Amino acid sequence: LSVVDLHLHSTASDGTVSPEEVVARAARAGMVGLSLTDHDTTAGLERARTEAERRGLRFLPGTELSANEPGQSVHLLAFGFDPEEPRLAEFMWSVIEDRIRRARDIVARLQELGVGLTYEAIVGEAGNGAITRAHVARALVAGGFMSNVPAAFGRLLGRGRPAFVDKKSLPPGMVIERVHDAGGVVILAHPGRSHRIADIGRWIEEGLDGVEIRHPANPPEVRASLEEMVRQHGLLRSGGSDWHGPDSKRADIGSQQVPVEWLDAIEARCTGVRTARPGNATGGE
Ligand code: AMP
Ligand code: MN
Ligand code: MN
Ligand code: MN
Repeated sequence: LSVVDLHLHSTASDGTVSPEEVVARAARAGMVGLSLTDHDTTAGLERARTEAERRGLRFLPGTELSANEPGQSVHLLAFGFDPEEPRLAEFMWSVIEDRIRRARDIVARLQELGVGLTYEAIVGEAGNGAITRAHVARALVAGGFMSNVPAAFGRLLGRGRPAFVDKKSLPPGMVIERVHDAGGVVILAHPGRSHRIADIGRWIEEGLDGVEIRHPANPPEVRASLEEMVRQHGLLRSGGSDWHGPDSKRADIGSQQVPVEWLDAIEARCTGVRTARPGNATGGE
């Protein structure tokens, strides 16, 4: 059985190892292919692609985009797009800028709460990568304001907590349109985390191409109803570990046992970029 992992994070967003190291670890876990899906950025994709080609792994370009609706964030995995397509590239820059604005707003909230965290301390955690609440949480721990990351979310940063700041409004339909512009497909990430089946039907009407079935947050009954939706609507299937690094307590790379045929089906629907197959030309233009 040939297995892939299509949901992985690196230091380009809130993962803790480099894009090359993510690929190395995927290879070590026996994967024949992978996608790197950092939050709202394509910055790690070239480095990961180069390393995957060097090791003879297939590589599908990816990103995990955060859309939202009132009261809920909606994570959308985009695959097989052209990262340089102007409308998508401009859109993603605006999202990265909004993350900077939001980090500064979180700092202001924390100051009001008597927590003296600086914006520079957050950037120290994020480096050149997209700034996420995970970096804010790590900076709070590093600065001695919180004892651990889950506590930082539970007490301060989680939705409804006093230092929670939302990102700008970004309807799923708009995200789907931008990715389609660039030849990619959009797959709903970890539906088991919060989404109702009724929401998914609405997003399918807006162009959603598929659902992430094999994810640590999807219990068996969710996987079963997602499989049923796939049959009804002709959707793509995806899966992955959502790994963020060796030090996090999440599932291991490859733990979701995603068959390479799911990657084949996703790739067949993309016109943006092809995965590199060992021994073939990459066709990345
Ligand atoms: P953001 O996209 O900036 O809102 O940051 C969300 C990221 O923070 C997620 O992708 C997770 O990696 C992490 N995260 C969210 N909630 C928690 C939590 N309760 N505990 C630990 N990490 C979390
Ligand atoms: Mn994350
Ligand atoms: Mn997510
Ligand atoms: Mn993720």
